Parts: sequence; C-alpha cells; structure tokens
Amino acid sequence: MPATRTPRHLAPRRPITDVDVAVIGAGAAGLSAALTLGRCLRRVLVLDGGVPRNAPSPAVQGFLTRDGTRPAELLRLSREQLTPYDSVEIQARRVTAVEALAGQFRLTIEGETGRSSRVTARKVLLATGVEDELPPIDGMRELWGRGVLHCPYCHGWEVRGQPLAVYGRAKLVTGLALLVSRWSPDVVACVEDPAYLTANARRRLRQQNIRIREEPVARLEGTKSGELRHIVFESGEKLARTAVFVHAHQHQRTPLAEQLGCRLTSKGAVWVDKKQQTSLPGLYAAGDTTPGTQQAILAAAEGSAAAISINETLTREECPK
Ligand SMILES: Cc1cc2nc3c(=O)[nH]c(=O)nc-3n(C[C@H](O)[C@H](O)[C@H](O)COP(=O)(O)OP(=O)(O)OC[C@H]3O[C@@H](n4cnc5c(N)ncnc54)[C@H](O)[C@@H]3O)c2cc1C
Repeated sequence: MPATRTPRHLAPRRPITDVDVAVIGAGAAGLSAALTLGRCLRRVLVLDGGVPRNAPSPAVQGFLTRDGTRPAELLRLSREQLTPYDSVEIQARRVTAVEALAGQFRLTIEGETGRSSRVTARKVLLATGVEDELPPIDGMRELWGRGVLHCPYCHGWEVRGQPLAVYGRAKLVTGLALLVSRWSPDVVACVEDPAYLTANARRRLRQQNIRIREEPVARLEGTKSGELRHIVFESGEKLARTAVFVHAHQHQRTPLAEQLGCRLTSKGAVWVDKKQQTSLPGLYAAGDTTPGTQQAILAAAEGSAAAISINETLTREECPK
C-alpha cells in the first residue's frame, strides 16, 4: 500500500478507502497517470499483471525524447521517475474483479501464490490496453513486432523504400496498402478474401502501383531474430519482402469494463467522455483501451488527462459548495 498518509487537508469526507486511486495497468497510460496523481499527493496503487502490448517490438518509435527506446527501457525509466512520489506504489499483480460500491470501488487482486486480496479505492483508472489477434498463418506470431508490423506510423520509417506487403481482408487492406505506399514504392497487397475487393479498390491500388495477390498465403518465412524473408503462397511460390503490415483484430485485454456494464463502442473499445470518464461514474479509462489512434505517446497523454480529471473530481468531492 502507498507509504504516506493522505495529507490532512486532503482527507476524504467520504468512506475511507485503502487508496485514493487504483490504476489498473502499468503501461504508458497507467504510469503517466500515476506520475500526475503522485504529483497531486494522491495515494495511488498501480497494479500490473503482465507485459505491455508492444513487448515483442525492439523499440518504441515516435515517442518524443525517447524515439527508438526499447519498450522495457521506456517503462523502466517511467517507474524510476515515479520513485520520488512516495504516495505511489506499484505492484506486479493482476486485477481479477472490480466491484462498484457506494462511493467507492473494491478490487480483487491475484496474489503471487494464487491467493486473492482486496483493495478499496475512491476512483479507478482502467489502463489495461488491448490484445492483438493475428491471422492464423504460420510465422505471423513468431515475426510479430519485427517482420510483421501493425502500424506505419510506428514502423514505416524503419522499412522505408523497401519491398513491403500488406495482408488482410478486402475491407481493410486497401486503406492500409495505400497508406504504406507513402513509405515505399514497392508494396504488394495480399488479400485474404479477394472476392470482396471492389473494382474501385482495385483501381485505386493499381493507380499507386500496388500489386494485388489473391492466392492464399501458406506461411511466412523469416529469421530467428524475427525479420521477414518471404511470404510463401499455397502454390509454393515465395515472394521476398522485408516486412508485412497487417490490420490485426483486437480485443480488450481484460473484461473488467464489460463486467462493470460500461458502455463499449461498436469496435469493442471502452467509451469515454472528454474527461476520460467511462459511462460508470468514478471509473476512468485511458490508452489503447479507449477509442482512437493507438500510440504510446498518446496513451501517456490520455493517462495524464485522466489523472487530472480524477484529481479535479476528488477535489470537488472534498470541497463541497
Ligand atoms: C508490435 C507493436 C509495436 C508497437 N510499436 C509502437 C511504436 O513504435 N510506437 C508507438 O507509439 N506505439 C507502438 N505500439 C503501440 C503501443 O504499444 C500502445 O499504443 C501502447 O502500449 C498503449 O499503452 P497502454 O498503456 O494503453 O497499454 P499497454 O502498454 O498494453 O499496457 C497495459 C498494461 O495493463 C496490464 N494489464 C492488463 N490487464 C490487467 C489486469 N487485469 N490487471 C493488471 N494489469 C493488467 C498489461 O499487462 C499491460 O502491462 C506498438 C504496438 C505493437 C503491438
């Protein structure tokens, strides 16, 4: 539990809870929120039960001042910068349930030995991220983050000018292939369901010199260190490529928001208002778990915005009119 007591003037009038804020998830969003809340003298417990989404990637690109830093190093630095804030504690434990009680939340946390414990908090921030669902093709999972990429804003510069491919369903492959073609003049679109590729999509791809491959992909061949060498089609033909971009489906890393009855978007993201507040009062969300562009620096920014919003709500509760 966070080491310091709440300063007297911040003592809540509401039911006393173990902490002011429980932050679930210690990726860019959760740690950024913890930093802002720590600077607000709030008692914060950050709980994290695994690795961040970009763990398979060699580097976080496009994060101002940290461009090219290893994902684990970015988080190490973030945690290091939290050490002066002794009202913030981070525990490597997974949250298995959250209950909304009158004026507070109760979290069930999995212990190292498998035994659960409970913690109460006035507010909860969900910063639990998403999980990518890769196409069931041999090599996709093994090369994910190096030879198989998800986003040209994160990785396009590293593979600029090289032979690239884009793989996916007709509905999504066109837009992604057109986008990737801004980074390289040699792009091949491998279409999972070519029957659905419209004449207009074909024309737009051709206009940008993007070749279309309609035969099923059998597997990806790459190096032990994760670089892509070839896309192998069912016919046995091999297409040499440096990287393939895929538009992976994704789902919430935890069902906590759904279990609490929060509103989700049609794409399964946790709906939030402009202040990162979910449809359940007192429960906030930030980072990949919410709708919109998914980037580490944006997740960090959302975490900070959520923290400010939480602190302002707590302040209003503590300073009644
Ligand atoms: C392969 C790959 C490469 C990427 N490269 C880049 C890049 O170069 N630049 C860039 O800006 N973005 C990149 N991204 C996107 C970036 O990873 C995400 O935008 C960013 O990680 C989102 O941060 P987050 O804090 O929302 O979620 P995450 O970083 O995923 O963190 C969520 C955390 O919550 C924890 N958690 C989940 N459920 C629970 C639970 N029940 N209890 C406790 N803890 C829980 C998870 O273990 C995880 O540590 C990449 C993504 C992928 C997949």
